[in-house]
Amino acid sequence: MAADTSLSTRLERLPGVGTARAEKLAKLGLVTVRDALMHFPRDYRDFTGAHSLADLREGEHASVAGEVADVGSRTLFNGRTMLSVSIACGGGRVRGVWFNMPFMAKRFAAGMKVVIAGQPRLNGSAWEFAHPEVRWLAGGEDAHASDWLAVYPLAEGVQQSHVRLAVQAALGHAAGICPEALPDEILVAKSLLPIERAFREIHCPSSREMIDASRQRFVYQELLMLQLALRMHRSRQQRASAAPPIAVDARLDSRIRGRFAFEFTPAQKRVCGEIAADMARSEPMNRLLQGDVGSGKTAIAVYAMLAAVGTRVAPESPERYQAAIMAPTELLARQHHQTLSRLLAGSGVEVELLVGGQTAKQREAALGRIADGRAGIVVGTQALVAGAARFKHLALVVIDEQHRFGVLQRAVLQQGQADPHTLVMTATPIPRTIAHAVYGDLDVSVLDEQPPGRQPVATYRVGPDELDRWWEFCGKKLAAGRRGYVVVPAVEETKRELASISSAYEGLANGPLEAFRLGLVHGRMKAREKAAVMEEFRSGALDVLVATSVIEVGIDVPEATIMTILDAESFGLAQLHQLRGRVARGATQGICGAVTSSQADPHPRVDTFVATTDGFRLAEQDLQLRGPGDLVGTKQSGMPPLYLADLLRDGTVVAEARRDALEIFERDPTLNDPALERLRKLILDRWGPTLGLGTIG
Ligand code: ADP
Ligand code: MG
Repeated sequence: MAADTSLSTRLERLPGVGTARAEKLAKLGLVTVRDALMHFPRDYRDFTGAHSLADLREGEHASVAGEVADVGSRTLFNGRTMLSVSIACGGGRVRGVWFNMPFMAKRFAAGMKVVIAGQPRLNGSAWEFAHPEVRWLAGGEDAHASDWLAVYPLAEGVQQSHVRLAVQAALGHAAGICPEALPDEILVAKSLLPIERAFREIHCPSSREMIDASRQRFVYQELLMLQLALRMHRSRQQRASAAPPIAVDARLDSRIRGRFAFEFTPAQKRVCGEIAADMARSEPMNRLLQGDVGSGKTAIAVYAMLAAVGTRVAPESPERYQAAIMAPTELLARQHHQTLSRLLAGSGVEVELLVGGQTAKQREAALGRIADGRAGIVVGTQALVAGAARFKHLALVVIDEQHRFGVLQRAVLQQGQADPHTLVMTATPIPRTIAHAVYGDLDVSVLDEQPPGRQPVATYRVGPDELDRWWEFCGKKLAAGRRGYVVVPAVEETKRELASISSAYEGLANGPLEAFRLGLVHGRMKAREKAAVMEEFRSGALDVLVATSVIEVGIDVPEATIMTILDAESFGLAQLHQLRGRVARGATQGICGAVTSSQADPHPRVDTFVATTDGFRLAEQDLQLRGPGDLVGTKQSGMPPLYLADLLRDGTVVAEARRDALEIFERDPTLNDPALERLRKLILDRWGPTLGLGTIG
């Protein structure tokens, strides 16, 4: 058989792996040499500079080298087995012990030279390492390992030793045949390790520095590939489409701004400028607007829409462009409709509503006005606007309060020949580096400023013992004229949950809040009923709105300034922050109580929520709490997970990769340069299906 010189070689064909092991490895998705090489360690054990016994400290990681003196197994009174390996070193002895791992016994024999590492404990006068990492110095299975022993992600029934062995075999097989993906120019300019060295060092590091250097190479490559993929995606979209240019001159600008009761903040002005510049071009705008809760994103949307409806479709034509805004809930759509109708009263611009709660006749009439161009601005839920409406001259689509979107879900409303400009507004800010990594094909605007006079919401954690006092406090505030929300958790709004919501409502109405006018909204109510209760609350006919998280997003009643969140532990951090945003909209400082079922136990999510009111910082902490494995951004966008890059930790690399990708792309938009051929192929393999890249060139 000819020597197999491909990274696609199956692992079972490598010396020492065998079919049985290969079957186990397949559970981890490791089938080929390439899979094994790309199975990056999650950690390393430090075997450098073996310690002498005198240096050991209880509980502090250390490693000790010596010779196996004695191996013994016994069964303990509780039925567990204990393996004890005594190791002679530097005139003394240490013990390694393993419980219920009888197979380990076979791996030791008197006379073997080993290094063990872990956290030692004094048992009587003897140092003991429980379940230490072991490195066999000669003749053992890890004899080839470096001073830094890789620790791999595992799956049920697969052991570290299986993976280590496979990776070592894969490295042996790959020596001399690893194709380099990055052009020399980049490797040199960025001082990155060449591919083969990088694989060796990431699995068998020769030093701490080399762990970092090898990781750096793979992280950079991964992020560069992602950025290039996003660029390709964007250019395909843009090549295929043209949008109507909307020019905002000084007159139109001041006419639009004059409609608002308030002065735009500098941040709002800046973002309006960015949007106007985008819309002036015939390439469709693709912009993401990030802003904390209450930063005034709606005003930006309205500005952009008025720019569109203020522009004629042709210089001599009486017809003007149309704009649409899509909201995630009907409640929010109705609110936007109300705000816009009020703002545009007497302007001649018709604002059309398109929601589920309308009669067939109403809907038909609305669709007619949209189709013949009379409706200037269309407000509705995504399902209806994107699904049913046919516009005459649609120039702009705004997608408000998007929680979950990415390249996949971006709803582009294609209508006829032209693509409209698109503005997506987030409900939850995500750290900028992550936005760039995940939405790299979008331009990002940030509203990093709150309207004047806003104060952070005073937030408290309320334990069960404090609940009575909390209601008393709320009662006083309500009696003094405040309006407020009580939020009850409901995930599915099942019958049972609705029953518990009703009983919570009854409990409050006949208990601590008995003196006030209460209303109830939840997701299972008819849209029109919900809207009616909302209206009563908005107008001041109700003091307290008991609600499920249907009010989470977008609801804007500036007079509501006090909120109680029941069972706060059951909400996610972003959701808590969204909820709190409902009482951060006016000049009066908002108050929020997060009620938890225990008094003292620390609860990382609720405690972080109470301590932090800045949405961007909360988003970062949220990611940290969830751990690097859960890349919220990529998961939400439906993209394949990243292998190695940690979008929080590697933020600077994200920025660097983004710049480099742009530069490469501007020089060579099809990546046809032979030096990029390998990279291009990898990108298409990895991202092609998700981003619909097909074959480029
Ligand atoms: P979000 O960014 O959460 O969508 P909204 O657009 O609902 O925020 O705005 C929150 C509140 O702030 C609204 O009541 C809005 O009228 C008000 N607002 C927005 N911009 C300004 C401003 N520049 N000055 C004063 N109030 C503003
Ligand atoms: Mg909003």
